[in-house]
Amino acid sequence: MKGLSRNLTQRLLQYTDTVHNWFWTQHYAARWAYLRFYDRRDAAVQVLTLPYSPWRALPHARVNRFCDLPRDFSSLFPKHADIRAIILDKDNCFAETDKMQTHPENITALENLRRQFPGSRIFIVSNTAGAFLHEVRHALGINLRLKEETETATGIRVHEHLHFKPHESVGKNVLMSLIEDESTGVKAGYNVAVVGDRIFTDVLMANQIGAWAVWIEDGVKPSNSLLVRLEKRLIALLESRGVKPRLPVAPPRTEPLPPSDAW
Ligand SMILES: [Mg+2]
Repeated sequence: MKGLSRNLTQRLLQYTDTVHNWFWTQHYAARWAYLRFYDRRDAAVQVLTLPYSPWRALPHARVNRFCDLPRDFSSLFPKHADIRAIILDKDNCFAETDKMQTHPENITALENLRRQFPGSRIFIVSNTAGAFLHEVRHALGINLRLKEETETATGIRVHEHLHFKPHESVGKNVLMSLIEDESTGVKAGYNVAVVGDRIFTDVLMANQIGAWAVWIEDGVKPSNSLLVRLEKRLIALLESRGVKPRLPVAPPRTEPLPPSDAW
């Protein structure tokens, strides 16, 4: 009788475990679907409102490939630019899409940037390596170690974010973490440069936070997707109409004025 009762208890526990796991998988799947819908809607709104503020789509500097970045990174910008930290995209920027390792042709350029922006002054913000909550990825069987593998392969921290670029929270959260870390010397977006291959994600994010945007036009493998072709046409159209990028501005001084001797 005792054996029967133990058997029954074990089977009941197994059954409740299965129901519990099924419930949480459905919960996270629904949450993921909602977030993706929300992010796509947000991205669509940002792109569709570009006619009202087209400067948001324009980069401040551009190079053809990541390896074309100059040795002195600040030489891309006007002399008054005071860049203290850098945010890098990963896919088709310094690595191939969906690969963690730096593409061989970009190793020197990435090392050069790491030397110029050491420690916490350099971040990777990638929709493939950094997006999704850890538990959502776990429940859906998505590679849990994307972030860790990218960090190990590059030696650069990957920012983990709930939403996808160009959702406003992504850029704002990275900027806040750079400002809160006093060792970076970042006071505002003016001190930050974003390097990426996409206009509707990387360049939009840079302009949202008042940072400098560097557009990698072709990346590791030139893409022929509809969105990329649309982005390139949009940039050509805006430039032919004389639209200029809006230059980031230094934050106003907040220190109190020195006491006057006039008394
Ligand atoms: Mg990219």
